[in-house]
Amino acid sequence: MTTAAHPTVNRRIVLAARPHGEPNESHFRLEEGRVPTPRAGEVLLANRILSLDPYMRGRMSAAKSYAEPVAIGDTMVGATVAEVIASHHPGFSVGETVVGFGGWQDAWTSDGKGLRKLDPAAAPVSTALGVLGMPGMTAYTGLLNIGAPKPGETVVVAAATGPVGSLVGQIAKRRGARAVGIAGGPEKCAFLVDTLGFDAAIDHRAEDFPEALAAACPDGIDVYFENVGGAVFDAVLPLLNPFARIPVCGLVSGYSATDLPAGPDRIPLLMRAVLSKRLHLQGFIVWDFAAQEAEFLREVGGWLREGGIVHREDFVDGLENAPTAFAGLLKGRNFGKLLVRIA
Ligand code: NDP
Repeated sequence: MTTAAHPTVNRRIVLAARPHGEPNESHFRLEEGRVPTPRAGEVLLANRILSLDPYMRGRMSAAKSYAEPVAIGDTMVGATVAEVIASHHPGFSVGETVVGFGGWQDAWTSDGKGLRKLDPAAAPVSTALGVLGMPGMTAYTGLLNIGAPKPGETVVVAAATGPVGSLVGQIAKRRGARAVGIAGGPEKCAFLVDTLGFDAAIDHRAEDFPEALAAACPDGIDVYFENVGGAVFDAVLPLLNPFARIPVCGLVSGYSATDLPAGPDRIPLLMRAVLSKRLHLQGFIVWDFAAQEAEFLREVGGWLREGGIVHREDFVDGLENAPTAFAGLLKGRNFGKLLVRIA
């Protein structure tokens, strides 16, 4: 066994209560316990970076979904970049960096399953949680398998400065399509055009959002990568071209909704569009395409090394600040992939 000097206290953030509506700090609790002791065949890992992702809102609810909810009093789940600080496992040495599912805490043990070693010389290790991690793979697989953009087509994506949307737009451009991004506020919109190379960017908070979106898509929309739902989808629906493809990736505008929206039943409107325009809507979860992970890492990793794609990270310092940062993520307070540096 090899061991590095390490702290003995493990801070962890647990789910204190299930939110009804938007989550806030009162739904979490910071607890302290002992750092676990690794058994034979296990490693002890110190989390260095925690990824905060919109799907965590679903884990806070008891409602049935594609994954189990976090139990009250349990550590919040999440992907982390971690350092091996003790090893009883022949495959891992002290000092190595891995990406795994370490949760909102300082330290944890693992039998090695689900850990992937990272090479800090190949790419900054934080990218394993963003552009070269689950969000990047979501953009890559959802866009290419379901959206299948062709040269000259118009691809629209919202939450476009986030890790999923920003890569969707940049891959669309690489495939010769026009990329139109939707984001909250002028600063994010300027970043989309000036730094990421989108052809147009529209602020979903602007009064004239539906008209501005229509003006930015004079030839209609061929691929709408659905990240948010709600009012954005309402503006997109009339602009969809016949045979448009809609990878349904996320519906973040409604993750904290407590009820269905008031008003008339618009399912007939949607179904009429699906029929008359022969729309292809397909929901997906990134791991449906797990077999494409190596291809994704090779191709997107290559683009990143060549400087052919841009990614932006938004770091928050301190595990104790994760709850506030997470609540802000669902309201667009992040600007880029939201990450927490753990001391
Ligand atoms: P982001 O970092 O982009 O964060 C979410 C963003 O959503 C916010 O920053 C905000 O950006 C935007 N947003 C929030 N509320 C609204 C609203 N009412 N209208 C419009 N935009 C809103 O997140 P990710 O890139 O990590 O994830 C993007 C989507 O992809 C999410 O829906 C997520 O759940 C989904 N996802 C799905 C996966 C799958 O396997 N299907 C896997 C990974 C992610 P802004 O300020 O621009 O409004």
